[in-house]
Amino acid sequence: MVTLQTFFPVAEDHHKVFGQISVPTRLLLGPGPSNAHPDVLKALALPPVGHLDPFYVDLMSEVQELLRYAWQTDNRLTLPMSGTGSSAMEATIANTVEPGDKVLIANNGYFGSRLIDIAERYRADVVTIEKPWGEAFSLGEIEEAILLHKPTVLGIVHAETSTGVCQPMEGIGGLCKKHDCLLLLDTVTSLGGVPLFIDKWGVDLAYSCSQKGLSCPPGLGPFTISSRAEEKLNSRVGKVPNWYLDVSLLNKYWGSDRVYHHTAPVNMNFAMREALRLLSEEGLENSWTRHRTNAERLWDGLQSLGLELHVQKELRLPTLTTVRIPDGINGKAFTLHLLNNFGIEIGGGLGALAGKVWRIGLMGYNSTSENVDKLLNLFDTELSSF
Ligand SMILES: *Cc1c(COP(=O)(O)O)cnc(C)c1O
Repeated sequence: MVTLQTFFPVAEDHHKVFGQISVPTRLLLGPGPSNAHPDVLKALALPPVGHLDPFYVDLMSEVQELLRYAWQTDNRLTLPMSGTGSSAMEATIANTVEPGDKVLIANNGYFGSRLIDIAERYRADVVTIEKPWGEAFSLGEIEEAILLHKPTVLGIVHAETSTGVCQPMEGIGGLCKKHDCLLLLDTVTSLGGVPLFIDKWGVDLAYSCSQKGLSCPPGLGPFTISSRAEEKLNSRVGKVPNWYLDVSLLNKYWGSDRVYHHTAPVNMNFAMREALRLLSEEGLENSWTRHRTNAERLWDGLQSLGLELHVQKELRLPTLTTVRIPDGINGKAFTLHLLNNFGIEIGGGLGALAGKVWRIGLMGYNSTSENVDKLLNLFDTELSSF
């Protein structure tokens, strides 16, 4: 019998008895996370291996190659940041923006505002162009702002999850190249679900997350940087002011040297590999078509119930639909009703759209006609009592 010597009597204040975890069944049809694919959850539950194990090192390369396919890019530095989408978002700015750099943010929603906040924290000289929540920027508006401000980076959100707008990308990359500006694109709610061509569009910096179109739990933030943006990184005067997100350090682990930086979340990368493998097995075009078809089914169904969609059809995002809450209806009470009685989550509005819209996500594994019909059916039968 070992007698343990302790310095103090152990405090019992926080020593409570909890039961083993049990999670309610949910169908997540909000702005994210979406439900993870069952095969992805199986991968997540596998026993971890060492983060320098040759097996794991091979798996890292597979994740990178699968990400290049999903993003349609040849970028060497394409890897998942250990953190949610916001970590990869911050990494794009932390690595390429130096104090005083002029950064132009095209802001038409909540995530544009977050980009502004992050760029200001890295002491960029931030200038913005603004649009009401629910509209997109025209090429002419973007060109005018580039000519006026001559930014070193233009940041724009491809799929604004707060508004349901998909920003048309034709021509923006060409303008940026012509005016020697890096193009930074938020692809958090488009990756896997919406046509996306990083190289063909001339995008220099992009980021995404694991929990929306990729059918994986939250925890990783895919990140990619072009060779043009790498040059800006390499010619920095000062160090990247964020040690954890410094891609030149991370590349020593993800590149050929395999030097320890931080302990990789190995199980999250198992899950990410499986999620990306499922996407590649389905094929990008099939996945994009599936998302579009199910979104149109939802849009038609909601409109035939007399509901109004917030965004005009040409700009509507297939992964996230904003529906106007009809006058006199308590939107929050209805979402709680769906959650508590049917286990279905949909989102409310943020910022300028708070209290005005519901946000319905059909992302990754959740984009099925069965899920659309289930939700439409509930709008039909339940909404009249609110
Ligand atoms: C969800 C989201 C983010 C942030 O990702 P997190 O994983 O929540 O950190 C950034 N941009 C957009 C457009 C998003 O929808």
